[in-house]
Amino acid sequence: MLKSTYLQRVYTEVTTKDPYEREFHQTVLEFLESLDQIIDQHPEYEKKAIIETFVEPERVISFRVPWVDDQGKLHINRGYRVQFSSAIGPYKGGLRFHPTVNLSILKFLGFEQILKNSLTTLPMGGAKGGSDFDPKGKSEEEVMRFCQSFMTELQRHIGQFVDVPAGDIGVGGREIGYLFGQYRRVRGTYAAGVLTGKGLSFGGSLVRTEATGYGICYLTQEMLAKMKNDSFEGKTVVISGSGNVAIFACQKATQLGAKVVALSDSNGYIHDPNGINLDVVKDIKLGHRGRISEYAGRVPGSTYTEGFRGIWNIPCDIALPCATQNEIDGNIAKTIVKNGVMAVTEGANMPCLPEAMQVFQSAGIPFAPSKAANAGGVATSGLEMSQNSMRYSWSFEEVDRRLKDIMTNIFHNIYNAAEECGKPGDLVLGANIAGFMKVADVMLSQGLI
Ligand code: NDP
Repeated sequence: MLKSTYLQRVYTEVTTKDPYEREFHQTVLEFLESLDQIIDQHPEYEKKAIIETFVEPERVISFRVPWVDDQGKLHINRGYRVQFSSAIGPYKGGLRFHPTVNLSILKFLGFEQILKNSLTTLPMGGAKGGSDFDPKGKSEEEVMRFCQSFMTELQRHIGQFVDVPAGDIGVGGREIGYLFGQYRRVRGTYAAGVLTGKGLSFGGSLVRTEATGYGICYLTQEMLAKMKNDSFEGKTVVISGSGNVAIFACQKATQLGAKVVALSDSNGYIHDPNGINLDVVKDIKLGHRGRISEYAGRVPGSTYTEGFRGIWNIPCDIALPCATQNEIDGNIAKTIVKNGVMAVTEGANMPCLPEAMQVFQSAGIPFAPSKAANAGGVATSGLEMSQNSMRYSWSFEEVDRRLKDIMTNIFHNIYNAAEECGKPGDLVLGANIAGFMKVADVMLSQGLI
């Protein structure tokens, strides 16, 4: 329950204006609960209506996306771009293609993106977009036609100084390629800085593919060192998902000396007590877009179980949920704690429900929230934008070193913010406050009310 009557009023307005936006309400409430700890020291926020401004997107664009399948049948999907905040830089955030996409999910993701981008210290505002189109089971040509139609509308709303989209669930290198090709064709200009996550041969950055997964591990490494005087070495790790984020989190955790024993997709999970063979996973997921169940047929000693949430019954030292939002509820969190977890880092955006976060925090388990932990992806997108502006490419080692520095700084920034608020170790609070204060100061100084 919020103590501040001002914040209570803001939250009531958010929930009554858009009563069905459950995910958006969830993220706003978590943010307001953190702000509740410091709001008394900042009367200027109420005076200048900063919080009600902050929770209202600057612009929401919704459009139809017509496309023709291989049988000649016309389909209509819905496309969106939520341009949430441009206070500290051009709008920046990914595009998600998934049947569950709706305005609530994109507003939640766009809102989180403002705080996340602020934490990176790079000059990027917050946005998110996408469509309820499902790329699964579609042919190469169908995906291409969809991307072209989507960009035919989106192109009028984006630009390197306006809004710079990237990938997310269902939007990887293939889709970014088709989207960029259409942008170039419609606009008649080679503006590489309009999208990030591009192929290396047309302006992409080394490490962008690996960045989110690697960044999660760099931040976790720092959290383990500072809060547990420990490391990944010799630890057992469970990672949910088997997409871009999960695969490269698995790779980095293994490089840092851990054993990753489980991965999942939306159908089920694999358990390999000998340690996941990532070459096989990459062949299945990146090679031919197969299902994770294939792994059990190819690697002796491993098993596959239907139902993706069952993965959290497997005991682990470090839990990295990297699939999607609201995967871990209070009961699953209790099981993870009972099984002896020592640290939890959110790789996906908001994979833990509020009651799950509560379970981890009350058990004294170091818990890193997604807006800090998975910022490595957008941070490296920021580095891609810098390289595009310079028309120059850094080496893998150079980008990786910058990524590691950014993630290490984010950890210390949120850790110190929590301590300054009198709640040492509360990284959820630290991330919300550290991310917000910078944007709020800019809003006050620019008079953006
Ligand atoms: P991918 O599309 O590459 O992979 C997503 C993975 O999660 C797949 O294994 C997918 O399984 C699973 N998944 C998706 N939806 C569901 C669902 N409803 N239930 C269960 N499993 C599901 O996406 P990413 O790896 O890029 O993204 C994963 C998470 O990380 C998302 O929350 C995203 O917002 C976040 N993120 C991604 C960044 C990036 O750089 N890619 C940056 C920051 C955050 P299946 O194949 O069966 O659908």
